[in-house]
Amino acid sequence: MKVMKFGGTSIGSVNGILSVKKIVEAEKEPVIVIVSAFSGITDQLYKVSELASNGNEEYLAEYKLMHQRHLEIIEAVVPVEKTQNVLEQINAQFNDLSNILRGIFLIKDSSAKIIDTIVSYGESLSSIIVANTISGAKHFESKSFIKTINQFDKHVIDFPKTNALILEKFAEELPVSVCGGFISTDSTTNFITNLGRGGSDYTAAIIAAALDASLLEIWTDVDGFMTADPRIISNTYVIEQLSFSEAMELCNFGAKVIYPPTIFPVFHKNIPVVIKNTFNPEAKGTYISQERSIDPTKAIKGISSINDTSLITIQGLGMVGVIGVNHRIFRVLAKNGISVFLVSQASSENTTSIGMRNVDSALAVKVLRKEFAAEIAQGEIDNIFSEDDLATVAIVGDNMKRTPGIAGKLFGTLGRNGINVVACAQGASETNISFVTDRKSLRKALNVIHDSFFLSEYQVLNIFLIGTGTVGGSLLEQIKLQQPKLIVQNSLKLNVVGIATEFKMLFIRNGINLDNYEEQLEKDGTNVSPELICNEILNMNIFNSVFVDCTASPQIAGLYQTLIQNNISVVAANKIAASSDYDNYAALKEASRRRGVKFLFETNVGAGLPIINTMNSLINSGDHIQKMQAVLSGTLNFIFNTLSAEIPLSKAILMAKEARFAEPDPRIDLSGKDVIRKLVILAREAGYRVDQEDVVKNLFIPDKYFTGSIEDFWKAIPELDAEFEEKRVALAAQGKRWRFVATMEIGKCNVGLQEVDSLHPFYDLQGSNNIILITTERYNEFPMMIKGYGAGASVTAAGVFSDIISIANIR
Ligand code: ADP
Ligand code: ASP
Ligand code: MG
Repeated sequence: MKVMKFGGTSIGSVNGILSVKKIVEAEKEPVIVIVSAFSGITDQLYKVSELASNGNEEYLAEYKLMHQRHLEIIEAVVPVEKTQNVLEQINAQFNDLSNILRGIFLIKDSSAKIIDTIVSYGESLSSIIVANTISGAKHFESKSFIKTINQFDKHVIDFPKTNALILEKFAEELPVSVCGGFISTDSTTNFITNLGRGGSDYTAAIIAAALDASLLEIWTDVDGFMTADPRIISNTYVIEQLSFSEAMELCNFGAKVIYPPTIFPVFHKNIPVVIKNTFNPEAKGTYISQERSIDPTKAIKGISSINDTSLITIQGLGMVGVIGVNHRIFRVLAKNGISVFLVSQASSENTTSIGMRNVDSALAVKVLRKEFAAEIAQGEIDNIFSEDDLATVAIVGDNMKRTPGIAGKLFGTLGRNGINVVACAQGASETNISFVTDRKSLRKALNVIHDSFFLSEYQVLNIFLIGTGTVGGSLLEQIKLQQPKLIVQNSLKLNVVGIATEFKMLFIRNGINLDNYEEQLEKDGTNVSPELICNEILNMNIFNSVFVDCTASPQIAGLYQTLIQNNISVVAANKIAASSDYDNYAALKEASRRRGVKFLFETNVGAGLPIINTMNSLINSGDHIQKMQAVLSGTLNFIFNTLSAEIPLSKAILMAKEARFAEPDPRIDLSGKDVIRKLVILAREAGYRVDQEDVVKNLFIPDKYFTGSIEDFWKAIPELDAEFEEKRVALAAQGKRWRFVATMEIGKCNVGLQEVDSLHPFYDLQGSNNIILITTERYNEFPMMIKGYGAGASVTAAGVFSDIISIANIR
């Protein structure tokens, strides 16, 4: 014989009940079916009682809605020949309910006893309907055999009586017996009581245990016990197998799939539990039994959480070494019916912190202060206080016992993501590590743990992209193309959760569809400013996130410090921050080191060429960079390679702009400013303290061309064409070429126009290419050379992309 429990979510709709009918009717062995109230009905019953007892007439409308819903379901599921009889029973029950409600409406009062009676109608009604829908089923009233006694104002099962009554009621094995869960009656008074919210699971377990059932099936609306609450985490999956203790820990810490007390009776009798989906009966579900985990690679099985937690702390030097303090704490809490789910005590014993539900915290502080009034008066206890609105997270798995380093990894991951741990506890059984954090960090904490313990099939990196111009636009294109491959080959999911342009910004937690982000920005985008971007990102408080700056904006660069402080990595194509005032650069590097996040800007120099990464690798392995010589301006190199009798200077500049090599304002390139910025960044990464003012310049366009507006510049620049052409012809005659060279030697930097002959390694530098020669202690006689495209949308975007990927790899 087995027991099958169908929850409110399973039977709350016509489709659901018809599925249940099919599932039960296909059973070959005798079954006992336990049902909840239709989904939402218990809540509605609590609501009508409150409205009625407040004298609010709206209770009537709510009551009518419930009645109507039951009638509609009967009409759709109960066979015609039984409809009349079922309608009579249901209408009679609604009639009674209506009388009770009218009574409390008139006297504007209600007692706990009456509320218990009112809420019992949910299961009472649903079980009649379901019993009459399944052919050959017989209906039972659970209130006649589930008996409770009162303990600390709570109804607890009177097991001896209940077990005896169950054996008596179900002595004869029928093909299908149906009864409502949740409802019970007091052992002595026979008043209606109940087993608490979600209590139908418990009813099923009690019956299964009393009758030594072969199996308890809990049918619900998900494919099984998931690795975490699927409403909070999107990439959860079904856990195939759990031990009783793992299931118990997960339920205790809020996994709603089963009501926590359910496990105990079946565990005692060693009756396996299977969680199944009424809407997908083929799915295997989750099998819960005495067996321990079979997959040794998974140290943790699941994560659960409770989002209303208060932490009560009892603090005082007087507690150290005093025997019996803990006994008094727990005795007084128990006496007041306060249940505790987490205890954490410092080994010095001078603080004890206790996790409980928010509703219990005020009472707990009051009774503890009273209990320890003498110690407080004598100063042995300094303080007893509560911190409310916290959340508790538990990670659960039997295999944690055999795997060292789980706690280290957990707290490391939380720290890197800026999640503050207020208290933590590890059960001696090592099946569970739980910690308390701020409620606002809960979603992030769950996601980050799920991700880093590889419960997820893939890791997620959440990207905020600012600027969708040449580089940003190309980057989005590349991400879109590469996304499917990264998921399959690298188990990495890139999720673009925010995009901002100069005009609009758009943030979507689950990811923006990159096929039509421009239209979405246009349609759903909101006003944008650097502050708004920053606020939105901090508010979203998303885990594993990276801010990608593809703008040339100083205001956007001004956000990095705040973002890094909030554990968000920054990838910048924007050169402003890394080349800004040295102290600012150093502060960003330091903050990112301290926070365990990354600040990367490989594309600031040489577009996608791996220059900064290479330098870092050399330095990290103990080398010293002594000298660098480089052509770092794709624009200037392109201009010098393009100048000819037909193409004068002004035209070559325009062509560089049109080819999108140049900065948005080409004067930044022509004035050498762009090269100076790059050289400063390289010198700093090589370990030297350099600022832009320290760079000696030998420019080729007089300063006066850079002082006016951009229009003035375009108007005036042709004045230089003739003189340049003359010099170019003379230079060509000597077999030489112009290169704008940046040099650093032991921290001394200069940039300027140089004439190089055909023997020089820079002579043959084509198009907009860049080149760098790095002389180090190890690469001395023959410097290391890196050469290739130094500008262009796709190579720069690729460089940014590779910075982004390297962030995914740090975990
Ligand atoms: P029922 O009406 O069948 O009793 P419940 O609403 O009580 O259903 O429980 C099922 C719900 O529990 C699921 O719909 C899901 O949203 C939620 N849930 C929370 N945590 C988990 C988890 N770890 N695995 C599966 N479901 C979970
Ligand atoms: N109907 C009850 C509740 O919602 C019991 C149950 O659904 O298990 O609390
Ligand atoms: Mg439930």
